Amino acid sequence: MKTTSIPLAAVIGSPVAHSKSPQLHTHWLKVNGLAGYYIPMDVRSEDLEQVLRTLPKAGFIGVNVTIPHKEKVLEIADQITDRATLIGAANTLILRPDGKIHADNTDGYGFINNIRQAEPDWDPKAGPAAILGAGGAARAVVSALLDAGVPEILISNRTKVRAEALRADFGKRLQVVDWVQAGNMLEEATTVVNTTSLGMIGKPSLRVPLDGLRPGTLVNDLVYTPLKTQFLAEAEEMGCRTVDGLGMLLHQAVPAFERWFGVRPTVDSATRAAALR
Ligand code: NAP
Repeated sequence: MKTTSIPLAAVIGSPVAHSKSPQLHTHWLKVNGLAGYYIPMDVRSEDLEQVLRTLPKAGFIGVNVTIPHKEKVLEIADQITDRATLIGAANTLILRPDGKIHADNTDGYGFINNIRQAEPDWDPKAGPAAILGAGGAARAVVSALLDAGVPEILISNRTKVRAEALRADFGKRLQVVDWVQAGNMLEEATTVVNTTSLGMIGKPSLRVPLDGLRPGTLVNDLVYTPLKTQFLAEAEEMGCRTVDGLGMLLHQAVPAFERWFGVRPTVDSATRAAALR
């Protein structure tokens, strides 16, 4: 039933209309002169497996997975990378010609490479990292920071048990801090990351006091709507080096695009502009 030889890829979520991935991959296909299409697909959880099993028969070679399916795809995939298993979620699927689904998580890769591109002098080993939030994205960030060699991670989440679960999974380099004390952990940190959805358009503000931040600290917000969050604006005023969250979205897509379409794409200002279009 294969209908085309042009490679197809998709982002699957629900809702998915807001996703920037179609503009991003379409831009890379165009600038690299490649044939292919990348489309958004709004799929309900109960239909996810059937859709994923059908896509290869229709010429699809890869899928990005977004909210709310990132965890559920692990129950469906035939092969799962160690890092996706550790993080407990996948964002990238390779649909093999034999019908097998390979699941990976490139969020941590995107997180680290965004910071490295924006702040090449950043040294993760220079001191502790402080993480606000302990959801799915935090798991990818913690995993990537540990791999990058941070000596210690202080983590604080409104629901403390979720932060404690990260400590149980990732080990003793993590220390859990009460949410009401989250501001205190910033004093020690040389890297600070907001992994909560607070500060995003339509969500409440991030109310953690930032006066403990030291000048020169690397501050990253995973939220990228708006691009410059209040958190980043305040950190910048305090002399911190700030990195927005859009670059993480762009960099996490690099390994996926390369695996699906065979060319390693570049993340540059034109890529950012395409994603924001
Ligand atoms: P998630 O699993 O739903 O986690 C949400 C996090 O935000 C949890 O830590 C949650 O705390 C916290 N939170 C939500 N509302 C809160 C409130 N009112 N007060 C205090 N804490 C609150 O979501 P996720 O997948 O980790 O995503 C988190 C954010 O990262 C989202 O904004 C997402 O768009 C962004 N993100 C960006 C990228 C990128 O490429 N830049 C990639 C992935 C995610 P509780 O545990 O207490 O609920």
